[in-house]
Amino acid sequence: MDNGRYFDHAATTPLNPDVLAEMMPYLQGVGNAHSLHSFGRRAEQAVALARERLAHVLGAEDPGEITFTSGATESNAWALSNFARVKASPFEHSSIADAIASGSGTFLSNSGYALGPSDPSCDLIAVMAVSNETGAILDCPARPPHAAWLCDLTQALGKIDLEAPKFDMASLSAHKIGGPLGVGALWNRTGLALQPLISGGGQELGQRSGTLNVPGIVGLGAAAILAQDNLESRSSAAQQARGIILEEIASLEGWQCLDAPRQSPFILALAWDGLAAQPILEALDSEGFAISSGAACSSREAGPSRTARALELPPKNRSGVIRISFFGNNHAETANLLAIALGKAIKSLRSLGRE
Ligand code: PMP
Repeated sequence: MDNGRYFDHAATTPLNPDVLAEMMPYLQGVGNAHSLHSFGRRAEQAVALARERLAHVLGAEDPGEITFTSGATESNAWALSNFARVKASPFEHSSIADAIASGSGTFLSNSGYALGPSDPSCDLIAVMAVSNETGAILDCPARPPHAAWLCDLTQALGKIDLEAPKFDMASLSAHKIGGPLGVGALWNRTGLALQPLISGGGQELGQRSGTLNVPGIVGLGAAAILAQDNLESRSSAAQQARGIILEEIASLEGWQCLDAPRQSPFILALAWDGLAAQPILEALDSEGFAISSGAACSSREAGPSRTARALELPPKNRSGVIRISFFGNNHAETANLLAIALGKAIKSLRSLGRE
């Protein structure tokens, strides 16, 4: 498989070799960060450094506000479990949206990407920074002063400038920015300890028990620094790749770009009239290109995604939404090949009447 043909970085990114190099001593060496001997202390120091690095990238004054978890799904579930009356944007990742849909809260109303006001009785409002399906940068509506804001930063960290944060809690995952799978964090700025979701050995000040994933945490710290350092160059590479694709498909008919008024360059969502996303993905996959339909985590669900429904896309294209996502510095050449393959796939599926 050719990584150059991989355009599904919103699902996961390849592990950056420099990140792997930093993780190697902790993958090969032994050390439980809670052990009192020198092996343990070495692991503990590595974890402390990773926490400081992540705090630096997030703009957190106190690294102690950051708790390492297995990823954004766990961080979201943990934050949600502490609140009774939750309001969430309809664009949230399934780790939040499914909990809301199953009765743990209600969705905010929306008009396009603009969110309606939150309810005065809510105690948590969940509005993500960047939509994982379309790359829209979202704003949190006015909220009651007592309500905390949980902001899912998974598609924002290392990809857009995190302006002076106004949220109270933020979730993230390392593997979206060239770090390892299965590690992430919750940044809790409320000043209050949360009820843990997982208890046991009392690690992470009792906030998240379980032996620390030292190599993973080291990888998260290293990936965050690298992503931050390369933010501008990656961002302009993503802009360039988007431009190439949009230009190449401009002559095709019957499609819509789902860009929001404020947009992350790293995600390009396109809705195709009269086609379902799956056959488009399969046609591109047979050419070695990886893209996705909306979110990878929901790829096995039938029908239009919650985001497509919330945006009130017309019935003719709401099932034909594909997501192309970037993270490298070198997409320009293959972006053109992808766009050519996409054009061919669309023409041939339309000629076959594959809806
Ligand atoms: N939130 C968002 C916005 C995401 O894109 C993802 C990953 N698709 C998650 C949360 C969950 O991340 P993970 O699967 O690493 O827990």
